[in-house]
Amino acid sequence: MYINGKWIDSESGKTREIINPYNQEIIATAAEGNEKDTKDAIQAARQTFDEGSWSTLPANERGEFVYQIGQLIRRDSQELAELETLDTGKTIQESRDDMADIANVFLYFGGLADKNGGEIVKSPFPDSESKVVREPVGVCGQITPWNYPLLQAAWKIAPALAAGNTIVVKPSEITPLTTVKVFQLIEEAGIPKGVANLVLGAGVSTGAELSANHHVDLISFTGGMETGKTIMQAASHNVKKIALELGGKNPNIVFADADFETAVDQALNAVFFHAGQVCSAGARLLVEESIHDEFVEALIERTKRIKLGNGFDESTQSGPLISAEHLAKVEQYVEIGEKEGATLAVGGKRPNDSELQNGFFYLPTIFTNCTNDMRIVQEEVFGPVLTVETFQSKEEAVKLANDTIYGLAGAVWTQDLNKADFIATRLRMGTVWINDFHPYFAQAPWGGYKQSGIGRELGQQGMEEYTEVKHIYRNKQPEPIHWFR
Ligand code: NAD
Repeated sequence: MYINGKWIDSESGKTREIINPYNQEIIATAAEGNEKDTKDAIQAARQTFDEGSWSTLPANERGEFVYQIGQLIRRDSQELAELETLDTGKTIQESRDDMADIANVFLYFGGLADKNGGEIVKSPFPDSESKVVREPVGVCGQITPWNYPLLQAAWKIAPALAAGNTIVVKPSEITPLTTVKVFQLIEEAGIPKGVANLVLGAGVSTGAELSANHHVDLISFTGGMETGKTIMQAASHNVKKIALELGGKNPNIVFADADFETAVDQALNAVFFHAGQVCSAGARLLVEESIHDEFVEALIERTKRIKLGNGFDESTQSGPLISAEHLAKVEQYVEIGEKEGATLAVGGKRPNDSELQNGFFYLPTIFTNCTNDMRIVQEEVFGPVLTVETFQSKEEAVKLANDTIYGLAGAVWTQDLNKADFIATRLRMGTVWINDFHPYFAQAPWGGYKQSGIGRELGQQGMEEYTEVKHIYRNKQPEPIHWFR
């Protein structure tokens, strides 16, 4: 762990073995922190914020530090990509793409640091002036999940530092490796001690302490909905600011006039990319009834050809699930789908290949004949499981698409731009893609409507999450007003 500029073991001396989900080999041993370690990290961040110079440093200088971290990530991107693939099982090409995105996030927020200024507002009173300024929030706790370990951390670390906050980062206990490595780069970039702190350990100890501790001003969390609710409750005790990026059950709407080949190809990518362990996965396919049979047939044929394997093998198209526990959850959902009467069209079991037996692999799975009242359609599986439903009109497509508790992302495929616009403006989701699926980048905000979350990451809005707004009013001609004579 990295606390107040020092690399330390946990106070208890406890450690945790980090497992490669491809073959269950132990790849590293990480410190297992507890509440005491977390308190130490919070204290360092608190003292540095209150007494240090970071929050008042000229914004362009802070920006340079953040930009420098981005450059160091670029320099070490191959090593980082390999670590990410070891830790998560995702393909090396995906990890390389992640690292390129992550470097861009630091470069973007480094550049934004000194463009985060305030504004002069016109006061209605004579002889006065008013300005609105943005200031850092203070000490920020940042808790991240295992599916995009470093990407999710980057979305939080870069804007928080650029805005002048001090931070305590708590990565998922099962995938801490790339975050540890980036803290080495943060140290190399010369960020002053106490500004960026790293604690490792279980959510129920380190994460819970971060969420409840009264010296933390803001908690930013990406992960599951139930954990998000627990964090929200803990954060309420000192009315922390909260940012939550929770799950999704994202619709992918395909009209009959869409380019058929592209829509089939991208529907596969939408749901099976990273074995479906993506918060924005297109797990609900809504296809116009007139092309349903042809579309599903093409999907099934292509799904059977998806090559599972070792993420380091360049020919592998998808890696394993993250853990035995998560594999069991996906298997349970498939059982539920079958019991609910959906038709299991392909997959629905673990692969037979001997090479894959030690890993947490699951075959890409498609359920047809689904209806919106099924749990398999409503609940986030977070695995390689697609449900298929049909619609007859654009109004029905919107109704089905919006009919879950989630509102993270959705996509529409059509060559009719008016129809695309009709859908895009009616989906209650933080991101809508037209004739594409998955693009996200540093310049545009990311986040959810409804129970998919609170607040936004990335873009200008992602920076604003880490600022407080202050109005400063000056009376240039003060004189008594004689209200109380
Ligand atoms: P999770 O909720 O189990 O864990 C996420 C993090 O929270 C981990 O660091 C964990 O240690 C910590 N945590 C667990 N219990 C805690 C507690 N009581 N208090 C404080 N922290 C605690 O989620 P996960 O299984 O790691 O990730 C999968 C989930 O993340 C999915 O639901 C997915 O949709 C969501 N996710 C959302 C986005 C998004 O941008 N909306 C992105 C990625 C993942």
